Amino acid sequence: MPNDVIFLLKKLNNSGFLSYIVGGCVRDKLLGQTPNDYDITTSAKPDEIKEVFRDFKCVTIGEKFGTIGVLLNDVLYEITTFRIDGEYLNYRKPKDVTFSDDLKDDLARRDFTINAMAMDVDGKIYDPFGGRDDLDNKVIRAVGDANKRIKEDGLRIMRAIRFAGRLDFYIDEDLFEAMSCNREILREISVERIFDEFSKILLSDKPSNGLMIMQETGVLDILFPEIKRTVGFDQFSPFHDKTLFDHLLCVVDTVPKDLTLRLSALFHDVSKVDTLSIGEDGRGHFFGHEVKSAEVAREVLKRYKAPNKLIEKVSILILDHMKVHSEMTDKALRRQIKRVGRDNVLDLYDLLIADCKCTRADRDASFIEERKKRVINLLNEKEMKTEKFLDVDGKDIISLGFKEGKIIGEILKDLENLVLDDPSLNDKDYLIDYVKRNYKTGD
Ligand code: ATP
Ligand code: MG
Repeated sequence: MPNDVIFLLKKLNNSGFLSYIVGGCVRDKLLGQTPNDYDITTSAKPDEIKEVFRDFKCVTIGEKFGTIGVLLNDVLYEITTFRIDGEYLNYRKPKDVTFSDDLKDDLARRDFTINAMAMDVDGKIYDPFGGRDDLDNKVIRAVGDANKRIKEDGLRIMRAIRFAGRLDFYIDEDLFEAMSCNREILREISVERIFDEFSKILLSDKPSNGLMIMQETGVLDILFPEIKRTVGFDQFSPFHDKTLFDHLLCVVDTVPKDLTLRLSALFHDVSKVDTLSIGEDGRGHFFGHEVKSAEVAREVLKRYKAPNKLIEKVSILILDHMKVHSEMTDKALRRQIKRVGRDNVLDLYDLLIADCKCTRADRDASFIEERKKRVINLLNEKEMKTEKFLDVDGKDIISLGFKEGKIIGEILKDLENLVLDDPSLNDKDYLIDYVKRNYKTGD
């Protein structure tokens, strides 16, 4: 236990209160992982917590629910009074809470047995619901009656999927049943909370674990019917050895752990379902599916109130994911960098590499990996570094006698393309001469 946490626990104990670390941090410690934060639970009531830590900065927003934040060495620790949750409102939050003197009451309100353990300052574990056994057996199990616990708070459906996915655990049968039977409750929960949990599912080591559970419980159909349609979808292609859903899962697992990339991977081919045509050779074709898939991704992400910047980038990556010709000249790559933007292009290549690896088991993606290296080199060229890279500007063109207006933009665009094709031409004298040779001033 970190020294600061020991300090907080001892300070409460020395004032006559019980105190423990609780929940996720105990679970993570038992799994041999370093907890990302430490929550503390205590028999002290909020007023008493404030009194014990009167010399520290305290945050009291959560006071009604028993939580006082205590700032110690720039870290905010949440210290919460043992509590029993009252009746639940709107499938999400207890109407009120009652404080208790008994640790067990506090553990009983927690969602899963592996999250319902506490540890005192000496390292002794309190585990009234068998969380340790469930950790050993790799099971996510509700504390108490699964159906009741899921009905109280629908977000627990997403939490169960997240923990099972992240830890690669099974979901206990009763809990699984409760999740599937009550999946409609998810419609009552705010889209922001759902998207937050879903993002965490996507950012685990192997998101396909969670996505598979979403499919098996029917949660996928409630939250993302667009993706549900890809389940079992045959691509009629000798280039693919997986159904569309399995291909999406593979790409999601293969791209780096980044939310934009994981979302792009999940949606990049969704509209293959709507664009399938079978050629004379019996093969599936999906003309324009990248445009439709980008549209679907935008709609879905808007529905979940995702940030606009994220939506924009996901859409850019999906739109360009079919630009993987067997040969690409530097010229074509420079245009691609300009089209998708230098901040996006390397992510695009990560998507392309994963997409290629997930087509057929024997597919070699090294040609795209090589191409990514070329793109990295091209990004170092002066022309690729700025929006305005030309050695001439509008004023230079006007001074040749052209009238201000549309024609100036057209000429500059033409010069840009010329230079992107061959950067050695980015020379003021050459460009001026080129304009003189190819355009008439019109007077
Ligand atoms: P993470 O490692 O993702 O932070 P965590 O288990 O610490 O996982 P938190 O959301 O930080 O999750 O919550 C801390 C603890 O509070 C949980 O371990 C659990 O005991 C309890 N808890 C959190 N959310 C709920 C909930 N919706 N229903 C019941 N108990 C909950
Ligand atoms: Mg936590």
